[in-house]
Amino acid sequence: MAFITLNKAHFFHNLDLLCAKAGGKTKLMAVLKDNAYGHDLRVMAELASEYGLLRAAVKNIEEAERIADLFEEVLVLVDHPTCKTLSPSISLATHSYEALQALPEGASIHLSLDSGMHRNGIKEDGIEEAMALIHAKKLRLKGVFTHFRSADELNSELFWQRANFERAKLKIKAIAQAYGMPFIAFHSCNSAALLRVSSIGSDDYARSGIAMYGYTTLPSSIASFDLKPVLALWAEKLSSRILKKGERVGYGGVYEAQEDELISTYDIGYGDGFFRFDGFTPVTMADGSLTKGRMSMDSFCLGGDAKKVCMFEDANPLAKQFNTISYEIITKLYPALKRVII
Ligand code: PLP
Repeated sequence: MAFITLNKAHFFHNLDLLCAKAGGKTKLMAVLKDNAYGHDLRVMAELASEYGLLRAAVKNIEEAERIADLFEEVLVLVDHPTCKTLSPSISLATHSYEALQALPEGASIHLSLDSGMHRNGIKEDGIEEAMALIHAKKLRLKGVFTHFRSADELNSELFWQRANFERAKLKIKAIAQAYGMPFIAFHSCNSAALLRVSSIGSDDYARSGIAMYGYTTLPSSIASFDLKPVLALWAEKLSSRILKKGERVGYGGVYEAQEDELISTYDIGYGDGFFRFDGFTPVTMADGSLTKGRMSMDSFCLGGDAKKVCMFEDANPLAKQFNTISYEIITKLYPALKRVII
């Protein structure tokens, strides 16, 4: 049966590196959204908690409830209107004035600021109004954050967005003091920003996702880091056969044997979240061998008869082949695939 291995030592190694980079005051918030980037939400949350991380961020309330028992705080990153009572550790990221209005009184929130990405968040000129509403609705403002649009690019946008955020911080601190609000945590950096900047200033948390799993999209011209991929995908052999010279294998018969050859069928396909790509270009396995014929929904073929095959232990070469990023290769993997911690 196909399975995924999750390398605990690699995960802890990456966390060591990221915590050291964040420094003493700034704590790591583990971004575990989208099933922990395809790794498995519960398994990775348990490992992050075992490591000693106190905070996590996820996509929605359903994900937050699944790990609420493991952390001091779990932040739901995407706006999700709710009136139901949430576990006490859950906070909601709130990206607009309308979302603030829709929240039930007393909800714990992190206010999202638009410092230049213009995807969502309160703009600087809307801060007073938002803070007044938070105060009036007795919302518990636990954090204020922003997100960088070009943290992994060579241009200097990261730096002007950081300057905007620092200015907004001062404004919010002054208003919060006037309202007598308790401590507010500030956070802005994703993995690339955290790895890239020499100091993350006065932030309390850094929200790291992809680097915890062993990847960075930072060009090596900016910096390179000893990150180790956590996930590897394995397929197991279903059957073997001799493909006679001139016979073609799989849908469309796109691969033709040039001589008699032994081939085997393995138990992963695009139904498991693996990329089908164009169906013509062979996919390269971790050992360099190439698929023969199209990737099916639940299977694919390779030469030889190895009992199991590692499809990838580093998503980068596949991401390059499929013209995408490592995030997409790992995040798409089907939650029901068996996970084994090694
Ligand atoms: N913060 C927010 C708001 C995000 O949406 C994401 C990921 O998409 C992250 C942090 C983590 O980003 P990365 O995986 O690049 O570290």
